Amino acid sequence: MSALREGRCACGSVRYRLMSDPLFTHCCHCLNCQRQTGSAFVINLLIEADRVELLAGDPDPVDVPRDDGSTQRIYRCSTCQVAVFSEYTRPEIRFVRAGTLDDPSTVTPDVHIFTRSKVGWIALPDSVPAFNVYYDRKALWPAASLERIDAILSSP
Ligand SMILES: [Zn+2]
Ligand SMILES: [Zn+2]
Repeated sequence: MSALREGRCACGSVRYRLMSDPLFTHCCHCLNCQRQTGSAFVINLLIEADRVELLAGDPDPVDVPRDDGSTQRIYRCSTCQVAVFSEYTRPEIRFVRAGTLDDPSTVTPDVHIFTRSKVGWIALPDSVPAFNVYYDRKALWPAASLERIDAILSSP
């Protein structure tokens, strides 16, 4: 395993450490992610919530509307409001925003998703799987990551 990654919000009130490598890394080009970030895509490190150790601060959960009428919980620094991670369906999995890492260049996407709304000026590499919408986890994730998530999904 590589050295443990750390990250923080812009003001430094929130600092965190990832206690292992992520399960998988998404680059999401959906319109919700574009709107939420004000950018062309988001890079999310999927990792067990209990492997995200907070070193400082306690980010606030904010329920943000999505285009389908649901909400997505995004955790923000209470001072500078930068989003450090979010939740989708399961609170046991955090989606850590790779741009908040101290060294974002240490992660590269394992998959590109929702490329149907990808902006036209981004060219994706042929070497990384890309999907119009979503993908089959069992087909792409490494065995060790599938074991890790099975442990979560099978727990009551
Ligand atoms: Zn902050
Ligand atoms: Zn998205």
